[in-house]
Amino acid sequence: MIDTTAPTPPFVTRWLETIAPARLDEIASNPADTAIISADIINGFLREGPLASERVDRITKPVLELLRSAWDHGVQHYVFLQDTHPEDTPEFESYPPHAIAGTSQSQMIPEIADLPFADRFTVFEKNSLHPAIDTGFDAWWDEHPNLRTIIVVGDCTDLCVYQLAMHLRLRANALGIHGFQVVVPMNTVETFDIPESADLEPGTAHPGDFFHDVFLYHMASNGISIVRSIT
Ligand SMILES: [Zn+2]
Repeated sequence: MIDTTAPTPPFVTRWLETIAPARLDEIASNPADTAIISADIINGFLREGPLASERVDRITKPVLELLRSAWDHGVQHYVFLQDTHPEDTPEFESYPPHAIAGTSQSQMIPEIADLPFADRFTVFEKNSLHPAIDTGFDAWWDEHPNLRTIIVVGDCTDLCVYQLAMHLRLRANALGIHGFQVVVPMNTVETFDIPESADLEPGTAHPGDFFHDVFLYHMASNGISIVRSIT
């Protein structure tokens, strides 16, 4: 009998219970040095195709609220990293084909594209889970050396969000950039759920709550600020 539940380890639960909401005017006390960076809030993970799920789509409302309040607060920098794959990418050996260039799956969800300040968005296409390999993302950072507060949103918590937040944290560490904070609001990131079952091939289960919680914990262990929400 396979146990299909995957409880979050108690030491992670105990830590999660300590995570408090944050205020935008405290996190981003200087809007001019603040940026919001999004991973993969595209149709292919929220709305259509083999990797999309309603569970991930749940971040839409809090992300839209955060983007609107950041704009009202004076934040000027919004970057969207988006899966945009050629049909023959090696990634499709690990995941079913998704977000192929030229399809609606590779486009940002319409609610974000329709925001009145969408002309201020910078979009980077990527062909892997990583934000900076062959994307131009690091060159953008070189052009914006004064940014210090980075709010990360998107999906999936344990995949592209993790790679993105860790890349920003590790880049700042490696370059000796002081006062640089990477903030991940828990309610604006999510991951997909494939519960363990007897029919599944070993190695394919992906219990969403478990991976979401454990990777938040792991990011926090590496100096990334996890908050419950930013309002
Ligand atoms: Zn992909």
